[in-house]
Amino acid sequence: MENPLVPVMAPYASTIFSEMSALALRTNSVNLGQGFPDVEGPQFLVDLACEAIRGGQNQYAPRTGLPELRRAIADHQRRFYGLDVDPETEVLVTAGATEGIAAAILALVRPGDEVVTFEPYFDCYPPMVARAGGTLRTVPLRFPDHAVDEQALATAFSDRTRLVVLNTPHNPTGKVFTRDELRLIAELARRHDAWILTDEVYEHLVLDDTPHVPMATLPEAADRTLTMSSAGKTFSMTGWKVGWITGPAEGLAAVTSMKQWLTFTTSGPFQYAIAHGLAMDDAAYAVTADELRARRDQLLTGLADLGIRTNHPEATYFVLADLSPLGLDDALTGTTAFAEEHGVVGIPAASFVTGAEVEATAPLVRFAFCKREEIIAEGLRRLGAVLGRG
Ligand code: PMP
Repeated sequence: MENPLVPVMAPYASTIFSEMSALALRTNSVNLGQGFPDVEGPQFLVDLACEAIRGGQNQYAPRTGLPELRRAIADHQRRFYGLDVDPETEVLVTAGATEGIAAAILALVRPGDEVVTFEPYFDCYPPMVARAGGTLRTVPLRFPDHAVDEQALATAFSDRTRLVVLNTPHNPTGKVFTRDELRLIAELARRHDAWILTDEVYEHLVLDDTPHVPMATLPEAADRTLTMSSAGKTFSMTGWKVGWITGPAEGLAAVTSMKQWLTFTTSGPFQYAIAHGLAMDDAAYAVTADELRARRDQLLTGLADLGIRTNHPEATYFVLADLSPLGLDDALTGTTAFAEEHGVVGIPAASFVTGAEVEATAPLVRFAFCKREEIIAEGLRRLGAVLGRG
């Protein structure tokens, strides 16, 4: 029988994360690939979710989200960023950020429209743009500094630009976009009358002093910006799949129209728990970032000691490492053999780029440091063994 998958989705038949996690299992490798923490999130959230289930909160939540969670999200935006958000019309709870991104792209992008994004990019943007009939215009961020090339950014825009998809802090580079960079993006979006979808799921996982600046805090961007976040990252509960979008009511109404046909609503008991979680004190918010900073520094130091070049991630779970000194010149084709021989799995950076960038990123591998200390140490030991150390 002919492949039943619609042709436009053929290049996106399977995500690299599932493939690499399966490879790690099969080869008994240290899995520094998929970005999920291997420690439990806060116990009080687990208790709250159980309480909600036992207490009978097991029917459909409203399609835009539980009122107490929408209020907690609005409070969070005011508390951390001074943003005024109406919980009735300017907040939408989604099944993780993934669904929110899909719903936003499918709601806004028309056939023939163009969507500007930086590459490397998080891998769920291109398939949704393709399914909507749009075209992606990518702007490279180049290893190891990942600076914005202003000229390349300006030329990516055209009179067909409908949407800019920004991700700050950025996966997989760990880059935190500066206010000046955001201003430039906002000005271009305004000039071309484009919406901005900003994926800020790592907003609380900033590890250095560069502050996270939400795009929506820029006055020139506020009326055209939809902001995504996710409890998966903030609370280390990636399996709960609770995300949310905030933004102007007319934009959110459009996204809600799409979202309601995807899942209608998101799991109620987890929404209830996250509503309480968002009110936790600043020290509790800092715990995950503090732990991650230690793991990042462990991995960066270990890789540097092995003579492996990396970027310096200021945020997120990820670092990019050039594994050519270990004989991995092309991570896309070589990762399986590398895992079989050496027992370490990362994600080839080339799976997050297009065109000429595939070659430019060939020896780069994304390692996740949201893992326990002993896992990172074992990964480093195995990489060292490739060089005949240890
Ligand atoms: N955006 C980015 C940049 C991510 O890294 C991830 C998760 N890896 C997501 C969105 C998806 O978030 P969620 O798990 O809430 O769907």
